[in-house]
Amino acid sequence: MGCGTSKKSFKDVSPTKVVQKEVKLSNNVASATPSSKNQEQQISSQKKPEISKPQQPQSKNPSSAQKSAKEEKSLEPAKKAAASPVPAENSKKLLNSHEVPQKGHGETSIDGHLSEGIRSNKANLNNTYEALKDRSPQPCTLGDAQGVAMAFYEPGTTLSPLPFRHPELLDREIRINVTHVGCCQGDVLWGTQAFFPGVHYPLVPGHEIVGIIDKVGEKVTKYQPGDKVGFGVWRDCCEQYDSCLHCRTGNENSCSKRVGTYDPHFGGYATSFQAKGNFFYKLDDSFPGEAAPLFCAGMTVFPPLQKDVVGGMKVGVVGIGGLGHLALKFARAMGTEVTAISTSSSKETDAKEFGAHHFINLKDEKQVKNGIGSLDYIINTATSYDIGQCCSLLKPRGTLNLCGAPTAGENLNFNLLQILINQQRIQASLVGSRLDGEAMLDFVRIKNIYPTVEVYKFADVQNAINSLAFGNPHYPNYRAVLEMGSFMKTFTPAN
Ligand SMILES: [Zn+2]
Ligand SMILES: [Zn+2]
Repeated sequence: MGCGTSKKSFKDVSPTKVVQKEVKLSNNVASATPSSKNQEQQISSQKKPEISKPQQPQSKNPSSAQKSAKEEKSLEPAKKAAASPVPAENSKKLLNSHEVPQKGHGETSIDGHLSEGIRSNKANLNNTYEALKDRSPQPCTLGDAQGVAMAFYEPGTTLSPLPFRHPELLDREIRINVTHVGCCQGDVLWGTQAFFPGVHYPLVPGHEIVGIIDKVGEKVTKYQPGDKVGFGVWRDCCEQYDSCLHCRTGNENSCSKRVGTYDPHFGGYATSFQAKGNFFYKLDDSFPGEAAPLFCAGMTVFPPLQKDVVGGMKVGVVGIGGLGHLALKFARAMGTEVTAISTSSSKETDAKEFGAHHFINLKDEKQVKNGIGSLDYIINTATSYDIGQCCSLLKPRGTLNLCGAPTAGENLNFNLLQILINQQRIQASLVGSRLDGEAMLDFVRIKNIYPTVEVYKFADVQNAINSLAFGNPHYPNYRAVLEMGSFMKTFTPAN
C-alpha cells in the first residue's frame, strides 16, 4: 500500500490559519530563480523525467512563503507549547507512505475525512520538539539556521517556513543538502490528519528526497560528502537481526519498530535533511533529481509488480495518476501486456504513451464487458474503485493487488461469492523495503524509466500543495516535485 487513495472531495476543506507567523524570509526567493525556460531546456536535454511547468495558480490559497516574504516581521523561533503525551508506538506507523490518487490525473480526490481530521485534534501543536527531545531539530532565526523547512504548524493544508538547526550529527548519520523533494498526496493527508489523529506539529513532510551529502558521521564508510543520494519513506527499523525475522530478511517495512521518515522527525520539505546513513540510497551523478517521486510512488508500485508478474502476463493498472502512470511504465518494461483501467476516457492518450497496450473505461459498459476475465493480474493504485468490478476483469485464479492508501475508516465492500467462484486473490502491498528500492533503482537505470512530473520552486510549495489538495488551478501532471536550487541562491546556511 502506498500513497494513493480514496475518492472523496477536498473542496469543502478550508485551509486553516497558520499558527506561527513570526517567520520571515526577507529575500524575494520567488524572483531569484532561473527562468523556467532555462530550466526546461536543461531538463529536456536529460530526456528524463518528463516535466511540465506548473500553471500559475489562481490565488485561492496564497503561498505562505510568498506571504512571508512580504511580511518583514522579526524572525522568532517557533515556541514550544505544552505538549500532549506522545502517542506510543501506534498504528499510524503502519501507514507511513501513501499517496492519494488525485482527481484528474490521479483520479481521486479526498474528502470530509480531511475536515474531520483538521477539527479533531489540536492538542498536539508544537509537540514535535517534545517528542524528539534532545534529538529534535530546533527552530531558530534565519541567520542561525542550518536549514529552512516548510511545515504544517497545525492540522490543515497551509505550510509556512521554519528555519531550524539540526540535532548533533551522530556517528552513523548523514546530513544532506536537499536538491529535490516530491510532494506526495500522503503529505497532505498526513498534514490534515486524514490518516490518523495525533500527528506531531510542526510537521515537516516529504519522503521522496534527493540531495547531495554535506556531512557524514564518523562511522559512515559507504558515503562521503559530495555523493548524490536518495531517501524514501522509511528512516529506521529495529535492526535486531537475531530476533527480528523481517529485518533479517530485508523486509524492514514489516518490522514492528519501523519508523517513517517524518512525524515527528523532519522530512524532506527542507533545504537540509539528516537521518541514519544506512537508509539512504546511493545514486549515480546522472540521476535526475526531478525523479524523486520514485522513492515513494515508485517504491509503492514496483515491488508488487516485480514480485508477482513475469513477461507475457496480462496486467491491468487501475487508476492512472501518480502511482498508476509509473505502474504502466514498469509493467510495460517488464514485458507484460498492459491494460490501463480508469473511469475517465481522457486518460487514454496519456496511458498509451506511458506504455498501455489497451484501455478500459470502467464507465463504458461495452469496454468493461469486453474486458471481463481477460487479465492475470491487476495492480489497483486507488481505493475509489469497485473491487468487484475490478475482479470481474481478472481471469479465474487472477490476483488483485491493492497499493493505494485509504484514509482512516475505509472498508472494502465486494461480493465474496464472485471472488470465491473464480478462486481469485485480493492482496495488499506496502511501500517497499531497501532491497526493493535497490532493485527498482537498477531497473529504472537499465530501462530508463522515470516519473512524469511538474517542478515547483521550493518557495512555491503552497502552490504545489494547493494543486495536490484542491486541484487549484489543476491537479498535478502526475507528480509534483520541489526544487531547492532557486531558493538556495537566497539562503546561506549557518554552520
Ligand atoms: Zn508518499
Ligand atoms: Zn525489525
